[in-house]
Amino acid sequence: MSTDSLHVVCPHCHTTNRVARDALSQAPDCGKCHRPLFSGLPVALDEAGFERHVARSQLPVLVDFWAPWCGPCRAMAPQFEAAARELEPGMRLVKVNTEEAQALGARLQIRSIPTLALFVGGREIARQAGALGAADIVRWARSHQSA
Ligand code: ZN
Repeated sequence: MSTDSLHVVCPHCHTTNRVARDALSQAPDCGKCHRPLFSGLPVALDEAGFERHVARSQLPVLVDFWAPWCGPCRAMAPQFEAAARELEPGMRLVKVNTEEAQALGARLQIRSIPTLALFVGGREIARQAGALGAADIVRWARSHQSA
């Protein structure tokens, strides 16, 4: 049954894979590039990659909008990585460099960074501006995921 599997977008080649829910936690590989679908690390995406993941992933996508010149963003990076280890494979964590993806940042009206945004089914359901620690990122994401 279709409800027993999910579309998971590969973080390496961006192919959409169909993965059984039961197999999510068993380190599934991509059917195309054969690399792990979950590495425990946030995936750096450009605008096209972001659109693909948000539109096709049936996992919630948690996005860290950041920029290299932003001190609080750099400080939050290891916290976001720790959150990825905790939240995968139930959620996909990605990073978007707003200096490179300026059109995307403008379209989504990202007014300050870092900004976290959670997308479910292609739709933004929650947003949080300002840096958080790993435990707070996990708590925030889970509280909105189940909402
Ligand atoms: Zn792949």
